[in-house]
Amino acid sequence: MLGKARRILKNTYGYDSFRYGQEKVVKGVLMKRDILAVMPTGGGKSICYQIPGLMFKGITLVVSPLISLMKDQVDTLNNLGISAAFVNSSLSKEEFIKTMRNIRVGRTKILYLAPERLLSPKFINLMKSVDISFIAVDEAHCISQWGHDFRKSYLEIPKFIEALERNIQVAAFTATATPKVREDIVDKLNLKNPLAYVDGFDRGNLSFYVEKGEDPEKYIIDYLERNRRKPGIIYASTRKEVDHLYSYLRIKSFSVGKYHAGLSESERKDFQEKFLKDEIRVMIATNAFGMGIDKSNVRFVIHRNIPRDLESYYQEAGRAGRDGAPGECILLYNEEDVGTQEYFIDMNEELETKMKKERMKKLDAMVNYASINTCLREYILKYFGDKRIKNYCGSCQNCHVATDVVDLTVDAQKILSCIGRVKGSLGGFTITKILMGEKDKKIERKDLDKLSTFGLLRHYKKDELEEFINYLTSEGYLDQSAGSYPVLRLNEKSFSVLKGEDGILRKKNEVISFDYYEDPLF
Ligand code: ADP
Ligand code: ZN
Repeated sequence: MLGKARRILKNTYGYDSFRYGQEKVVKGVLMKRDILAVMPTGGGKSICYQIPGLMFKGITLVVSPLISLMKDQVDTLNNLGISAAFVNSSLSKEEFIKTMRNIRVGRTKILYLAPERLLSPKFINLMKSVDISFIAVDEAHCISQWGHDFRKSYLEIPKFIEALERNIQVAAFTATATPKVREDIVDKLNLKNPLAYVDGFDRGNLSFYVEKGEDPEKYIIDYLERNRRKPGIIYASTRKEVDHLYSYLRIKSFSVGKYHAGLSESERKDFQEKFLKDEIRVMIATNAFGMGIDKSNVRFVIHRNIPRDLESYYQEAGRAGRDGAPGECILLYNEEDVGTQEYFIDMNEELETKMKKERMKKLDAMVNYASINTCLREYILKYFGDKRIKNYCGSCQNCHVATDVVDLTVDAQKILSCIGRVKGSLGGFTITKILMGEKDKKIERKDLDKLSTFGLLRHYKKDELEEFINYLTSEGYLDQSAGSYPVLRLNEKSFSVLKGEDGILRKKNEVISFDYYEDPLF
């Protein structure tokens, strides 16, 4: 089966091999499984449903929210010799009739649809009379209220499937989904025993920065001056802000364009095309810009204002470096912008109280991103439930270059083994004393000064050691019991450090003093 899929990939699309995730997903679709595939933008989702669509008997329906994109997709497919079509509100009556006729006689293999179409009785009747191979749902997170881009019309999809009165395979695709949204997609689309494929969210070629307390305009000008030749995107949260930045940067004679929903369609198209062709270097835009835009050489994405959640941020920032070459993602953080976002949530009359709370929580997580001093990439990946995380990436602002980082694994092992020796009976205070080699009545009474770990870290300063133990606890390398006399205990993560499977790397300036550390006592 996969052999045939590979031949289509080569002969029709001209690609030599599937990407790792594509192969898994294509295989799943061909095995007639329901699918939930989470793959990054640019990961190549389209092929995952198009190729099985060509292999199966009957027509494949692709539900997509972006009317503007459907035509492009279909044109591309037609150019490849694939009989694809779309139905949405942009079709004239004649085009619509012709499309319907082609479907009826089985001439169309892949049909793109706006979800609004699905409940038209005429359309349902037509669909009842044809052989549907499966339904692919693109941007599937739009069905979830917990996502960042809920679209009511997506709720028509399960109703449509029900109306067909038969079992139909469904494959859902999205680029961003937290575990909660994933569950919701499975639930709302009623996916049966789905094969879930979650591609790593990590985009190793991107580096992340948060700039606090900068004058945004000055920062942007300095940045653009340093990066004159690079294509980039600057996101701002309102049209007004976009207009303002645009005029301001134009006066300073930078090569800029702008994009927001308040411009006419021809203006938007014009700017977009110029940007795609590198005739304009920098696009200044609201979040209306970008969905489906395939410009691979974007070298930076600057957010002038904090976006409403990490989903939006990562999706927008992720438009940098799609060609695999380095990309910089910079968030300019100002407190007033948080207030603006809160105001947007508060004033949104469509949101019920429960949803408002949920939005606030998401905003909090976004604000938190701007305030942490640990690895920014780790923070993002954790948020999206990616399990393959290190606590140090080396290419974000908070763990910038390798020389800023120090390996504290051995010291951590000493602390952990001390805690192991006393079998989780002591708190941080006494553990610190033991490691510092300090005696008190309790230590003498319990013979703790006879432990092999006694005085093992006496080259540390006391507050430094306390801080380190707190750090290990807060990062989950130690468990702390509740109650008035909390004791420290080892857990799974402690053992992986003790076994040397996990390392403790920290930024130098996070650690209080380094003079002592440099001293090789052991
Ligand atoms: P997505 O929908 O996930 O954002 P697309 O399906 O638009 O991604 O694919 C992104 C780009 O990658 C497209 O230019 C596509 O032609 C290219 N592509 C997809 N699969 C492959 C492959 N197996 N080999 C080479 N290029 C591919
Ligand atoms: Zn990092």
